[in-house]
Amino acid sequence: MSKGTDLFGSMVFGDTVMRERLPKDAYKALKKTISEGKHLERDVANVVANAMKDWAVEKGATHFTHWFQPMTGITAEKHDAFISPTSDGQIIMEFSGGELVRGEPDASSLPSGGLRATFEARGYTVWDTTSYAFIKDGTLCIPTAFCSYSGEALDKKTPLLRSMEAIDKQARRILKLFGNNTAKRVITTVGPEQEYFLIDKEMYLKRPDLVYTGRTLFGARPPKGQEMEDHYFGTLKPRVSAFMRELEEELWKLGVLAKTKHNEVAPAQHELAPIFATTNIATDHNQLTMELMKSIANKHGLACLLHEKPFAGVNGNGKHNNWSISTDTGANLLEPGETPCENAQFLLFLVAVIKAADDYQDLLRLSAASAANDHRLGANEAPPAIISMFLGDELTGILEAIEAGTAYQNSKKHEMEIGVTVLPHFPKDMTDRNRTSPFAFTGNKFEFRMLGSSFSVSGPNIVLNTAVADVLCQFADALEKSDNFKGDLAKLIKKTFSEHKRIVFNGNNYSDEWVIEAENRGLSNLKTTVDALPEFITKKSADLFAKHHVFSAAEIHSRYEILMESYCKTLHIEALTMIDLTKREIIPALIAYQNEIVKLPALKKSLGDLDTSLEEYLMSRIAKLSGCLLKKLKTLENVLLESKDKEDVLELAGYYRDKVFHSMSELRLIVDELETIVGKDYWPLPSYAEMLYSV
Ligand code: ADP
Ligand code: MG
Repeated sequence: MSKGTDLFGSMVFGDTVMRERLPKDAYKALKKTISEGKHLERDVANVVANAMKDWAVEKGATHFTHWFQPMTGITAEKHDAFISPTSDGQIIMEFSGGELVRGEPDASSLPSGGLRATFEARGYTVWDTTSYAFIKDGTLCIPTAFCSYSGEALDKKTPLLRSMEAIDKQARRILKLFGNNTAKRVITTVGPEQEYFLIDKEMYLKRPDLVYTGRTLFGARPPKGQEMEDHYFGTLKPRVSAFMRELEEELWKLGVLAKTKHNEVAPAQHELAPIFATTNIATDHNQLTMELMKSIANKHGLACLLHEKPFAGVNGNGKHNNWSISTDTGANLLEPGETPCENAQFLLFLVAVIKAADDYQDLLRLSAASAANDHRLGANEAPPAIISMFLGDELTGILEAIEAGTAYQNSKKHEMEIGVTVLPHFPKDMTDRNRTSPFAFTGNKFEFRMLGSSFSVSGPNIVLNTAVADVLCQFADALEKSDNFKGDLAKLIKKTFSEHKRIVFNGNNYSDEWVIEAENRGLSNLKTTVDALPEFITKKSADLFAKHHVFSAAEIHSRYEILMESYCKTLHIEALTMIDLTKREIIPALIAYQNEIVKLPALKKSLGDLDTSLEEYLMSRIAKLSGCLLKKLKTLENVLLESKDKEDVLELAGYYRDKVFHSMSELRLIVDELETIVGKDYWPLPSYAEMLYSV
């Protein structure tokens, strides 16, 4: 086995390979395109494409694809071979600059939310030069953005790149005010921690609900769940360990810095965290990570579950989006500084994030909304649906002192003189990290913890980047006009904290008291996806995204439609799967089991009046529950039929949430009860205990 260093990035057409293989001029031109977003000339593109093709062919690749991220949430690719016929009937391997830079996938069945009528279905893909090409399964993959012919974004990458431009522009205005004219670019960075379950593949294949919907729609609670918390950071089982090693190696080859791995709280649950990267690259890498998790698990006879809530009553899967802002020279702008001036700059960025989170709490909330994540947010394992921020006692104390205009005494009882100009160095407070907070400051970054595990991190980062860009823009507008920078800066920090401190909450976000207090503070509590999504199409949202050129009004509407439809479809498929499972697996099992029991009393009688109370008890219990089952099944079928009458997408989504989901829960209750009575050999589905302790 090769060493990590040889492996790392070996399948990536990254900087070292570019430098080695490209003529100097072409290399320089490409670097300029990458770092400054300059246009890539056709002749340079041809040179790059050719070098890329030679490199890829040497590595065994035969095909290339424009790899993109449509609104389905997963990645799409359409493979083309490099081969080209020659006049003498031979073939040569060819790849042109045109093919590298632009593609036209016939992607008419990908969701566009009405943006693209089918007659002009052929959207096009363009190379995102900031994300390196890589080889996966013998195919050279070129990360691309996907747009319609009229230039509207049809994917998750385009608006993310736009939001990064927005925050770059505004943050550099702020840096200039602090005398920094050297930063060429400001980027946001992301390190997504990814949770997942691993179960035995054979069990998985026996669960149509897992196969079709990603989660178990039935399943009685196992006698042992996660109560003992003995899985958390426990030793890795050999199969899991082998899976993780291969996953890590494959990720390293693709330049993904997968770093930590450990068991999570729930049995069979694990986590992978990469070292952070520029947001759009981190997004690409996270998509690759999820894809590889599934395919490598499969090779190891395992199934990787990325659904937010595969098992009721057991912790679900989340994704923690660690986010920060930094310059191209690597200065983290959310890192408390060493000098008063650095600290003043830090405090300004900090209050910008505070204001952004408060002003745009609804957008942040909806960026983490999905039918699957509705099972987590607000339940006692994930943050509530209420957005609040954790700053820790130290930082909160400092901001409160600034607000009050008093001196701040830190925990070590050192007096600190406050006033932005003489702000002292203060320690990072890592001790009281609050695990219940949806949005926590963790020393030099924010950890947005509401995301579902299967999410593309694109959406939440589009909102974060744009919201913070907007506040930085407001700050820059005010401060650029000032003729007393230091004084006005101090006032701005004070005023901003004072106006937005309601969003700061360092207590227990899981408590019932917080829900009441949050309401008193005027914070919003959008409990479900159906409550949250309409916030996307408000004027406030449209204005924000239009101002920073992230989404046009048409793009917002198309996305709203897609998200709502996906919510409804998810529940529809779940309901259909439940009905199908009940009719074709549960009911036959009930009949078979009852048939066995029912024969017994007669036999016992013939043997001389033996006690038949057990059979009678079981029969009557199962018969009673079976009656209920039939009723609930019919109700669900009827409720589902009635959904056809709803025209409006919001009304339909509400119907699915209130009526369909309710009927599903009622049916599940009966089936789960039956599972605890019916003989194990008769029950058609592997149990929770079998799945969770199968590896
Ligand atoms: P925990 O499990 O305690 O929340 P981890 O160490 O597992 O923390 O994950 C922390 C994540 O934060 C890692 O992915 C790490 O790369 C990322 N991270 C660290 N610094 C930054 C930063 N400046 N910007 C974005 N992400 C960061
Ligand atoms: Mg974390």
